[in-house]
Amino acid sequence: MAAKVAEEWLNICGGCEVSILDIGDALLDLLPQLEFVHMPVLMDHKYHGQTGEGDPHKIEIPAADVGIISGGIRNEKEKAVALAMRNSCKTLITLGSCACFGGIPAMANMWTLEEMYEKVYRGSKTTEKSPTPNKDLPPLTDRVYAVDEAVKVDVAIPGCPPSPDMIKEALTCLLTGKPFTLPEKSVCDECPTKREKKAAGGDIKRPLDGMTFKQNAPWEETRCYMEQGYLCLGPVTKSGCAGQTTEAGEAKVPRCIKGYMPCRGCFGPVKKGANPLVDMMGAISSIGLKPEQVADRRALLSRYVGGQGRLKPLPAKPAPAKK
Ligand code: SF4
Ligand code: SF4
Ligand code: SF4
Repeated sequence: MAAKVAEEWLNICGGCEVSILDIGDALLDLLPQLEFVHMPVLMDHKYHGQTGEGDPHKIEIPAADVGIISGGIRNEKEKAVALAMRNSCKTLITLGSCACFGGIPAMANMWTLEEMYEKVYRGSKTTEKSPTPNKDLPPLTDRVYAVDEAVKVDVAIPGCPPSPDMIKEALTCLLTGKPFTLPEKSVCDECPTKREKKAAGGDIKRPLDGMTFKQNAPWEETRCYMEQGYLCLGPVTKSGCAGQTTEAGEAKVPRCIKGYMPCRGCFGPVKKGANPLVDMMGAISSIGLKPEQVADRRALLSRYVGGQGRLKPLPAKPAPAKK
């Protein structure tokens, strides 16, 4: 019998759903084993009964074996949908960095709601100023939350976007009753670049500003990007984006590293609850670079993980003393 699947998107861009499609041909093998009973991106399903006859205060999600949620929680409606998904689904998966850690939208957690309303609506410098919208819209939550801050989550598939191979692997594990977990290893643990445990010298550079690599050369000839002076979050980011091995049996290379880009940290912390901002300061110092040279480090080093209490508004600066 096919496993019933419910999928919901909360505070999202839609890229996670595209990753499901990116599974490609292998999705055709999986589909006969899956029955999608709820998926707003693909099918019309009302929350209060198909003709609106249901309880307007209760969100109805059909019962499912597997629930998949992409996106974090930015408003009260999304929180209620996450709760309804939890109640209706035996196993709940968070898909993508927004659902797992708050993702890019959680960078807004650096400001209070009032500061954001002021900047975006009341004091807008680029569009007509307007009052804070409050009609026919669910109220915003005080900050962006990762889904596991609101409900219990059974399986997390991080990534922005998540890797199609990993989604396929997780679904296959669930269908065959095997556990799906990611090891507590870092992107560096899977990175084939050459390391000398010290920076080549100089200051921290802007991304790609004079990076040295030879396309398609053996990886041992490419110096670690961080040791070249580029901010690479590989030391503090969970591995897994590389997948396992190629068809030829060779180890795969982390996605951005393979594209000659430093890791931006989208798979989140290596260990649950870790703070990449703090850990990265240590990693930068340990090879002789200067952490104080990282511009806007709160935002850059917590870019995907600002939920779960990692990004907060800074305390207001005291007013200058009157002379
Ligand atoms: S994790 Fe990335 S791809 Fe997925 S919804 Fe968030 S921003 Fe989009
Ligand atoms: S810092 Fe980046 S480039 Fe260097 S080993 Fe780690 S992942 Fe690879
Ligand atoms: S290398 Fe880093 S930023 Fe790139 S996909 Fe992997 S975890 Fe995400």
